[in-house]
Amino acid sequence: MLTIHHTKRDFEETDCTVAVLPVGAVEQHGSHLPVGTDTLFAEAFAKGMAEALDAYLLPAIAIASSIEHRKGKGTVYIQSDTLALIVRDIAASLQYAGYRKLIVVNFHGGNWILKPTVRNLNRELTDMDVILLQYDAAAHRHGEIFKHTQGDLHAGEFETSLMLHLYPELVKTIKQSERAREAVPQAFMDYFDVTELTEDGYWGFPEEGTADKGKRVMELLVQCGLDYLDKVERTREEIEQRKK
Ligand SMILES: [Zn+2]
Repeated sequence: MLTIHHTKRDFEETDCTVAVLPVGAVEQHGSHLPVGTDTLFAEAFAKGMAEALDAYLLPAIAIASSIEHRKGKGTVYIQSDTLALIVRDIAASLQYAGYRKLIVVNFHGGNWILKPTVRNLNRELTDMDVILLQYDAAAHRHGEIFKHTQGDLHAGEFETSLMLHLYPELVKTIKQSERAREAVPQAFMDYFDVTELTEDGYWGFPEEGTADKGKRVMELLVQCGLDYLDKVERTREEIEQRKK
């Protein structure tokens, strides 16, 4: 695996053509989790992928699209359009440098602009594939690990578990919040700020979090991520085969 700790010579001596770009957020995560939560998780997931693929692990885009959290102290955000432009520029730069695959590892739902960005990039870039992996890469198997697979949207059981696994010292006391479980649709973030919909800015069941659940889900994320990449490759080969 290559990182920004390596030199030009290190890069020259490998034939690495895969890059992994973590995308996180700097936004309030209630009273119990740090504002950099999504960035720390994106980095961990991306590192697991880069290690498995012997790829170039890029530094994270830490500040991203968190406008729906702007009323929570500690939040810093850029506009979604700006994020799309940054990812486009990074992809073009990597393609120029000879990379043939970029894996964008996103850990924040508010970075939804990445979806159309990746879809378009794959039509625009002639020599590079861009794959999007997200926090929900293992969601279809969350039932094996978590008590709550619904309504656990932000700083809840899933994220508190991951933090207890990765950085237990960063998990603070959970503040009681009745509205944290209220079933307003996630789409209501289009109209309201998260700190208006909940008392403490979290949305879900953080008290159910454990380090063991966090460890298991991080392993599952990498496993599901690798399976997904395989599936994309196999589909590409099948399509090529049919053309012949
Ligand atoms: Zn988060």
